[in-house]
Amino acid sequence: MPTAVKKIYQAQSFAINAEKNISLLIEYQCPQCGAPALLNETDRLIKCQYCRVKSYLIPNDYCRFMLPNNAPGNKELLFFPYWRFKGIFFAASSDGITHRFLDISYQAVKSSLFPVSTGLRTQALKLQFVAPGIKGKFLKPQISIHEVMKIIDKRSNKDAAGTIFNTTHIGESLSLIYAPFYLGKFLYDAVLNKPVSKQAPDNFEIESIPEESPAWSMQFIPTLCPHCGWDLEGNRESIVLICRNCNSIWQPKQKILKQLQFACIPGQDNDNITYFPFYRIKVAVNGIDLSSYADLARIANMPKIIQKDWEKREFYFWALGFKAGPRSFLRIQRDITLSQPQDELKKSLPASKIYPVTMPISEAVESLAITLSSFIKSGTKASALSKIKIKPQSFLLVYISFDKHHHEYIQPKYRVCINRNMLSHAGNL
Ligand SMILES: [Zn+2]
Ligand SMILES: [Zn+2]
Repeated sequence: MPTAVKKIYQAQSFAINAEKNISLLIEYQCPQCGAPALLNETDRLIKCQYCRVKSYLIPNDYCRFMLPNNAPGNKELLFFPYWRFKGIFFAASSDGITHRFLDISYQAVKSSLFPVSTGLRTQALKLQFVAPGIKGKFLKPQISIHEVMKIIDKRSNKDAAGTIFNTTHIGESLSLIYAPFYLGKFLYDAVLNKPVSKQAPDNFEIESIPEESPAWSMQFIPTLCPHCGWDLEGNRESIVLICRNCNSIWQPKQKILKQLQFACIPGQDNDNITYFPFYRIKVAVNGIDLSSYADLARIANMPKIIQKDWEKREFYFWALGFKAGPRSFLRIQRDITLSQPQDELKKSLPASKIYPVTMPISEAVESLAITLSSFIKSGTKASALSKIKIKPQSFLLVYISFDKHHHEYIQPKYRVCINRNMLSHAGNL
């Protein structure tokens, strides 16, 4: 295949959208009163406009959506699965750290018969949750999302300059999208009601793909504190809910809300203060000495004279508990990790405003190696960097106070600054 043709083919097979921050829209019904409503793919806390009841959405593992169809009534629908991933891909190489936005869909069953991606239709149409009782054949995914991400990494790596020693994805929105088709003389796209190719399909190929019944359902639970029954606080995208009454925070875990340990580094509570969530993560690092503040000072080549007691000060990674744009994300995480906050931790919620947790700990952990690359002294060999392994051991969610200024939130002591404009854009990575 000539290179130019190959490139086009590759680009198409990923349907990478140049436009960022396009969120899928999903039609659903209020679990309380049945009123029709619309939500964004990242929404978790939902308030019904009719009955005013709040409910919290818990996906099983990832969301399963389907595209609406326009097929003639007598046709049996065939739902073909696509993985859909949206987020930022980071690559650390000998030339520095690069990033790119990814918004892709990819066949979850390898087939030359079906379109290689969902194309742009997912953005133009309102999706629905797949639920039990939907008629049609649901083809079972044969390729895991893990394999798809590996392929994406490989292709993304090819574009990057220098020797890559680390890659990661953050801000992930991962779902399985079923696109409807039906068989006639040809294979028809049931969204557009048009044949997908001019060739008659080989029915055998479709028959050979295993199917499964749509047994998944979304779980909506009430937003009441399991401990004291108080109304829990959060915003649309919160993955952690707060009870101001009994001073506890809650996170969904396998269909129920579980209590999460947290702490707070208090500032002076007033109207001008907002608390931002961070994960303080204890790690075991292999391939480089990084267990104390003194190690950090050496690794990051800090212009400081290493004090004796620094050798005993335990090192922690500090990761963002909220979404931020790629540059801010790395910078904030680097600055706060280099600061290594030492202040006393309090186990109570502050009275001031609290910024919602929107970044899961699983992703925060994924981002540590790239954070390390952002502050490790220059001249460190890529071969040495690629051998570093970071193993998370435990974490604590810590709220830190920031002062609100005209354009940014500032933490004066740790010298961390969060751009306000960036936050308003980062909600939907
Ligand atoms: Zn309702
Ligand atoms: Zn409570």
